[in-house]
Amino acid sequence: MILRLSTAFFQTLREAPADAEATSHRLMLRAGLIRQVAGGLYTYLPLGWRIIQKIEAIVREEMDRSGAQEILAPILQPAQLWEETGRIRAYGPELMRLEDRHGRAFVLGPTHEELFTDLVRGVIRSYRQLPITLYQIQDKFRDERRPRFGLLRGREFIMKDAYSFDCDEEGMAASYEAMYQAYVRIFARLGLDTRAVEAQQGAIGGTGGSHEFMAIAPIGEDEIVYCDACDYAANVEKAQGVPSPLPAASSRAETVGQVSLPGVIETGAQAEALGVDRAYVLKTLLYEADGQPIAAILRGDHTLNEAKLAAALGVAEVTPLSEERVRKLLPKATHGYIGPLGLSEQGVGLFVEPDVMALPYAICGSNEEGFLRCGLRPHQAFADARILDLKEVYAGDPCPSCGAPLAAAHGIEVGQVFKLGTKYSAPMGAVYLDEAGQQRPLYMGCYGIGVSRIAAAVVEQSHDEDGIVWPMAVAPAHVHVVIVDMQNEEQRVMGEHLAETLSASGYEVIIDDRQEHAGVKFKDADLLGIPLRMTVGRKAGEGIVELSRRRDRKTVELKVEEIVGIVARLFGENS
Ligand SMILES: [Zn+2]
Repeated sequence: MILRLSTAFFQTLREAPADAEATSHRLMLRAGLIRQVAGGLYTYLPLGWRIIQKIEAIVREEMDRSGAQEILAPILQPAQLWEETGRIRAYGPELMRLEDRHGRAFVLGPTHEELFTDLVRGVIRSYRQLPITLYQIQDKFRDERRPRFGLLRGREFIMKDAYSFDCDEEGMAASYEAMYQAYVRIFARLGLDTRAVEAQQGAIGGTGGSHEFMAIAPIGEDEIVYCDACDYAANVEKAQGVPSPLPAASSRAETVGQVSLPGVIETGAQAEALGVDRAYVLKTLLYEADGQPIAAILRGDHTLNEAKLAAALGVAEVTPLSEERVRKLLPKATHGYIGPLGLSEQGVGLFVEPDVMALPYAICGSNEEGFLRCGLRPHQAFADARILDLKEVYAGDPCPSCGAPLAAAHGIEVGQVFKLGTKYSAPMGAVYLDEAGQQRPLYMGCYGIGVSRIAAAVVEQSHDEDGIVWPMAVAPAHVHVVIVDMQNEEQRVMGEHLAETLSASGYEVIIDDRQEHAGVKFKDADLLGIPLRMTVGRKAGEGIVELSRRRDRKTVELKVEEIVGIVARLFGENS
């Protein structure tokens, strides 16, 4: 392939629009890879589309290798399928709903569990036809409230989604593992630094387990913790807390009684005023879950992770109890003096962090302004409470698997795999006959990869101040030939000759044959980030060109006849 910039539909921008916050968004717009149509909607331009096609090819090869079979379903789905599972309501406002001319309801697919389950229930009859895994690479639509960061969070995006169908839980686990391993291979081939983390199941659902594949990048919206000593990694909202050491005790906390501490409302300040370790001053946090008041109780030195609390309660979210309800519940208490005593008698569910139970005694709010209560015995006071891992896990905390200190990072979710069990097959009646002729529900898994998001994630991980640095595997071309002076006959002839030779050897070549100043061409080449640049300039007459590697700008002068051999070697090194 040879792409000539003189005739290509290609334009770089000196400046990105001011609202482009993410590096990948700015660089992909400036390099002429994508153009915005409207908020969260993009057109992939010729060079950008080549990147997408390369990512798709790698995904497709590894899906096929894992035994999955490719199909293509429509993006427009009858809403009636979503009625069958109840997701028409549960999915929320991100689901784009529309009607056809006959007034029939449809949705634009944000994901395809219902459609694939419907497809398979119409075909599969017997255990002999199982297992089966189907996939597609297709546009998805999610009506994001705030599309941003370019391809990282668009409304329409390209996704590979796969669905596995098995006889039982064991089969489902095997299909899940095959897909998990395919994902590991895909991200390795793409050159993306990713970590697989245990994840919440979210709107896709199921209870069997889930992993997210996170591309490490500061712009990532997810926080993860991971261990370098073993392979433990988890989303912060899923990271398992391990028992914290017990700090030195103090008789002040042990002696039963009320103490007056007006105007000191923060646990750290209260601990200091009383001369005890902060761990001993409990936090009592009032929340509402599904309309019910609940209290989360933690050591003073720990932070509540609301997502863990919500997940343990099986609700989408918990919200702080309104001031009005707090006043009604505890008329004499004010912020800073709320405590756990007497709450369960008023119908408040108590949820206590395990580290609290390890304290021999503690200090808590007295539910009366200005007073704290000392000498609380947690194992007595919380005998009937639910004990739950609720605390936030931080970098430096011990790894729950091996004890080494955890590291923390932000990640871009580039893939997720789910064990769905019978969440979709049961309500939709997707069944098969087993060996004994018994009707059983199919066990499913679903597996997504964000193809267009991966392109942006690669840029987030691989760029410098001058532009993008594409890894060879997804670069829009392998070699960028720059003819410095198009007025110079020797340079023009040699540039063309080089491009032809490399292309004939199977390399993809961009040739900058525009009537532009050399400075403009070099700037554009840096911005576009093709792995190898060949500059044909003053020494063309001597048969010498300059080869430069984008990654580290290592530059050498070469004889034209050496070029193909050298490129082959550099290509092999995956530069
Ligand atoms: Zn570890």
